[in-house]
Amino acid sequence: GEPILSLRGLNYVYSPGTAYEKQAMKDVNLDIWQGEFIGIIGHTGSGKSTLIQHLDGLIRATGGELYFDGENIYKEGYSMKALRQQVGLVFQYPEHQLFEADVLSDVCFGPKNQGLSEEECKKRAKEALEMVGFPESLYNASPFDLSGGQKRRAAIAGVLAMRPKVLVLDEPTAGLDPKGRDDILDQIALLQKTTHMTVILVSHSMEDVAKYVDRIIVMNHGEKIFDDTPKQVFLHYKRLEEVGLAAPEVTYLMHELREAGVPVSTDITLVEEA
Ligand code: ADP
Repeated sequence: GEPILSLRGLNYVYSPGTAYEKQAMKDVNLDIWQGEFIGIIGHTGSGKSTLIQHLDGLIRATGGELYFDGENIYKEGYSMKALRQQVGLVFQYPEHQLFEADVLSDVCFGPKNQGLSEEECKKRAKEALEMVGFPESLYNASPFDLSGGQKRRAAIAGVLAMRPKVLVLDEPTAGLDPKGRDDILDQIALLQKTTHMTVILVSHSMEDVAKYVDRIIVMNHGEKIFDDTPKQVFLHYKRLEEVGLAAPEVTYLMHELREAGVPVSTDITLVEEA
């Protein structure tokens, strides 16, 4: 079928015509289908944040087109408000935006703004909190009394409560300890699997992404340089190293190859079969 998101020759230039002019997105073509689990990776400054801010219309491409559900979002009269309800963006450290007195009210905030009834808001909030594995015993707790991981879950639930078709998470593991990192990624993977929601996970760490996603998009200097399954992308480990994505993925590649029964030496050169 048709992709849910389609980027056609997307370009973005910050501060054009000034001394600070910076082309952060260069002719990016990308198709994403409903139900896919996508990882966008690249080193700091490669254009990941710029890319995802296009997806819900927060920034407008300086060139090219973007289609959501087959519709050009740059055409006259297109509702960016409606788009934002369907593409839920979870920013880095989303818990900094928790401000209500209790968790449930916080998660209700989005649906309430949509004008839904109190009852419907609560229903959606509870459903969203369940999706992120947030314990029911803490629904009435103050967000400020939660652990780092629970705060983050509550913040993600706030976006899920809007029932978006696409969930975009910018570095959802930033600042969490290794256990918290695994927990949140496992939970996101579970929610993606059970709901078939389109999930886009942004990370600078291959390690975080590779284990979970169906497809990896690798960004470098505003360009999409790879777009393939983790396995296929990992085969280009030399190029990945060149663009600042080194050690963990090499480890992963070795793991994958060993699992497939391919003899691998420690310096990753494939060993010829005797
Ligand atoms: P990433 O998310 O991969 O770290 P960004 O999309 O934030 O990358 O940045 C891509 C490039 O655009 C970088 O060179 C960055 O310095 C530049 N950039 C980001 N935001 C701005 C801005 N508001 N003004 C000017 N340049 C920016």
